[in-house]
Amino acid sequence: MRNICVIGTGYVGLVTGACLAELGHTVICVDNDASKIALLKKNKIPIYEPGLEEIVRNNAKNKRLSFTSRIKEGVKKSDVIFIAVGTPPRDDGSADLSYVETVAREIAENMNGYKLIVDKSTVPVETGEWVEMTIRRNIKKNVEFDVASNPEFLREGSAVFDTFNPDRIVIGVKTKRAESLLKEIYLPIKAPVLVTDIKSAEIIKHASNSFLAMKISYINAVANLCEKTGADVAKVAEGMGMDKRIGKSFLNAGIGFGGFCFPKDLEAFYWISRKQGVDFRLLKEVKEINEHQRLLLVKKIEDAVWNLKGKTIGVLGLAFKPDTDDMRFAPSIEIITMLQGLGATIKAYDPAAMGKAKKVLKNIRYQKNAYDAAKGADCLVILTEWNEFKELDLSKIKRALRHPIIIDGRNLFEPAKMRKSGFDYKCMGRS
Ligand code: NAD
Repeated sequence: MRNICVIGTGYVGLVTGACLAELGHTVICVDNDASKIALLKKNKIPIYEPGLEEIVRNNAKNKRLSFTSRIKEGVKKSDVIFIAVGTPPRDDGSADLSYVETVAREIAENMNGYKLIVDKSTVPVETGEWVEMTIRRNIKKNVEFDVASNPEFLREGSAVFDTFNPDRIVIGVKTKRAESLLKEIYLPIKAPVLVTDIKSAEIIKHASNSFLAMKISYINAVANLCEKTGADVAKVAEGMGMDKRIGKSFLNAGIGFGGFCFPKDLEAFYWISRKQGVDFRLLKEVKEINEHQRLLLVKKIEDAVWNLKGKTIGVLGLAFKPDTDDMRFAPSIEIITMLQGLGATIKAYDPAAMGKAKKVLKNIRYQKNAYDAAKGADCLVILTEWNEFKELDLSKIKRALRHPIIIDGRNLFEPAKMRKSGFDYKCMGRS
């Protein structure tokens, strides 16, 4: 078992650190956000992620998992260092790699022996070369090191499960030493390991996320055709998904993708391709279709209530997807801002994301539950497909609403059944 340091204790770093400790390694998680570290030291989890709290608590208790804001301590005590800091988008769509650079420099300054530095953050191709160069330029002692790429594919909401049950583990390396160390770390996990060069590993991550985003935009464009012609996108997606070459996942029509990964990774992949002289226009279309879905939903709401000015809209779901509290690039932000811009008052409820939503969405009347969000509203809008919304008592919702109008951006219900129950119900690509 190895001594491991994970730098960046966010959605990826904390899950990775806790799961590696659960596998038996000794892990130090580092973050420069002192308040986050203070919480974690008290066994409090700063994010909502099913199953995470228990493994953090257990491994902290048995001393395999610890937290610090001092990178020096993490680097000196570890053989393998994972970089899991954020790579947010810059205004032009390219990835902001300044956090990765800072961390690479700080690692270099504190290296006291051989280290394997593994990039887990999602980064554009050739970042590994820059990390290696940064370390060479800033290294203080004459020690050996390797750089590797190990992109992360976990999904928020099922991050712990995904970490223990990945479809594949991708390892981009330059040396056999790095390859065998990473293979050893992941040995207890039963998953195929794909060993590549560093650049290919970096592209695998960007290409995979952009492909999934493309699937979502594709089905959304198909949904719009279904809606115009009276076809049913749920049936179309089912029929498409039965073809093994296509597969049924990521064929849910709706208001499009959001979150910290797809929008920024798609942009960054487009940007790096252009920088390399490759015009990957398809990615631009994927983004445009996605943005159009938000407008389409707002138009549906407007069509249902006539004028938005002075109307009250109840919103169910704020997180970018269910089972997370993550609000980064959530479609709800754009949609609610548009509705407010058109004069609507918003009442909203989300099972987990309201704390984070309050920081980005102002002038909203946050509610304790879905029924309160519906109470007195001119229309109810569904923006996140939380399971608890699928199980709502619809007659109670109907009684709570001023008018029985539901605009469902996530296709939670059967349109015919909803109409039979007396709702004016509109969803995406189904009529
Ligand atoms: P995050 O913002 O939740 O976490 C990043 C953490 O890094 C923060 O806690 C921040 O304080 C810390 N940090 C920044 N600079 C630091 C420094 N100099 N020293 C120490 N800590 C520092 O981000 P995330 O969602 O965990 O994403 C991290 C990376 O993983 C990104 O590149 C992202 O694209 C990628 N990724 C994310 C997901 C996901 O579902 N969130 C999935 C796969 C890959």
